[in-house]
Amino acid sequence: MSKPARVFDDAATRRICKKRDAQRLPPNLVDYAATCASFRWEDAAKQLDGLPGGGGLNIAHEAVDRHLAVGRGGRTAIRWIGKAGGRSELTYADLAAATNRFANALQGLGVQPGERVFALMGRLPELYIAVLGALKARCVVSPLFSAFGPEPVATRAEMGDARVLVTTPELYARKVQPLRERLPGLKHVIVAGGPASREDGVHGWSDLVDAASPDYVIAPTDAESMALLHFTSGTTGKPKGAVHVHGAVLAHMVTARYALDLHEEDIFWCTADPGWVTGTSYGIVAPLTLGATNVVVEAEFDAQAWYSVLERERVTVWYTAPTAIRMMMKLGADAVKGYDLSTLRFMASVGEPLNPEGVLWGLEAFGKPFHDNWWQTETGGIMIANYAAMDIKPGSMGKPLPGITATIVERLEGGGARVIDEPGVDGELALKTPWPSMMRGYLHEDERYRKCFAGDWYLTGDLARRDADGYFWFVGRADDVIKSAGHLIGPFEVESALMEHRAVAEAGVIGIPDETVGEVVKAFVALKPGFEPSEALNRELLGHARKRLGAAVAPKQIDFRTNLPKTRSGKIMRRLLKARELGLPEGDLSTLESDEKK
Ligand code: AMP
Repeated sequence: MSKPARVFDDAATRRICKKRDAQRLPPNLVDYAATCASFRWEDAAKQLDGLPGGGGLNIAHEAVDRHLAVGRGGRTAIRWIGKAGGRSELTYADLAAATNRFANALQGLGVQPGERVFALMGRLPELYIAVLGALKARCVVSPLFSAFGPEPVATRAEMGDARVLVTTPELYARKVQPLRERLPGLKHVIVAGGPASREDGVHGWSDLVDAASPDYVIAPTDAESMALLHFTSGTTGKPKGAVHVHGAVLAHMVTARYALDLHEEDIFWCTADPGWVTGTSYGIVAPLTLGATNVVVEAEFDAQAWYSVLERERVTVWYTAPTAIRMMMKLGADAVKGYDLSTLRFMASVGEPLNPEGVLWGLEAFGKPFHDNWWQTETGGIMIANYAAMDIKPGSMGKPLPGITATIVERLEGGGARVIDEPGVDGELALKTPWPSMMRGYLHEDERYRKCFAGDWYLTGDLARRDADGYFWFVGRADDVIKSAGHLIGPFEVESALMEHRAVAEAGVIGIPDETVGEVVKAFVALKPGFEPSEALNRELLGHARKRLGAAVAPKQIDFRTNLPKTRSGKIMRRLLKARELGLPEGDLSTLESDEKK
């Protein structure tokens, strides 16, 4: 269990954090209690369009095509800012045509509805077109993080049965080709921005997509059919493929309105990469469902460059993450002062605990607080949030979204859970099922999926507490997964990559607290006979893990041990490695079998 969140909740702070920008654009959610009381998902669903002629519900229609029919075709849908200074805009009409071309291209290749289209690329316009175009073709989209190494890419593409991959020539050569033999089902690779080669089914984007027809009619789509496949990490085993359906778009739209206070006239910037769920739900789908302008920035974090984007693009709503906020804080509030950020109305944060200091630094630097919100890959959309018109308690995740019931439970031995609905009591955060963007399964893993539920409750795996005012506070993870720079990392995946090295007998991986990125990945390694710990071997192992896993996932530190603490059933006790590393109490050791100390 992580250390408890700091409570930072005096009345004076709350008063300053009260939202002051109501005069510019009234918040979408004005009266939280009244909205919660009257909210029904069935009513909210009337704000969706649905496919013409009662053809069901398709995310891409809600995000793109429907705007054309109501005269919004000329409005900018995506404003792309390239890292080499390039810049381009796609109106809703352009995006409709481009995604139609992509859907036609898939059809031309014989790709069937339900087949999986993976994307592995940086934040390029083609990524956005491919995701929405594949949804039009009723394929299932799985976006991968472009900083993944070959191993995480191959594992996910293999598990998800990738039929098509959209990527760049460079990423293909470095990350896919080395393990391509593991992907016999991958029939087509579409490379953007490079020469076409027909080898191994590799097609050039311009030959295939640009040449396709811009007219396409989305076929009837069942709201319950699978649309997105997002891989997330667990404590054990392979990553989990969380299945989301077209009907999730209702939650994307409603949460964007309420939790991000997004309006049609907004210029919105979500800094997350679409390789992670935030970057898809809010970096692609949600803003487009409301007809807003979605700013896409290809470059990675740089504080001054980010402030320039906010100023130059006249961003009004900004959705970012605690690691970035902490990096900006290091440079000080004065660094923000030279920029004209007068259009910025609402700032939100997600992905990891946002320290109270981060909320307040927002006030100092930008004249408005960051609004923390909470959700996870499995929930598909924001579930708990600090709203524009509601007092913020810095350090709290806020209150459940209208339409969502959250509580605190205790898991019972032998299955099930008991609700502990008392203020101030720590337990597991649980959400009442169902809601539209709730995952519908873990791909091929029914048992793992079933274990997430107890009666009507979805058990989140996060520890939290609720206070007497109904605000939820994050306490820690109930499992061993690691959150580093907002990215969820499964220790097992890292341990497996280390174990591939000829010198490694055992590996145990934990997250250790870090001021900036939340947690950094640290590995403990026991060597095989014949190998001795050395600086050179340490560097070799770090290099090996980086090459296999990519920089975002690989450990930053490795310590050698003669033996790792294990349970009687042979499982490495990461909890104990962590307690020892951090000088915390070692807790219950009754299952401990072998130990480095023995
Ligand atoms: P992911 O599925 O990668 O989006 O990660 C979800 C996990 O990130 C949650 O289960 C939490 O552990 C953590 N998380 C997300 N948002 C917050 C938040 N606002 N405060 C604390 N932890 C968060």
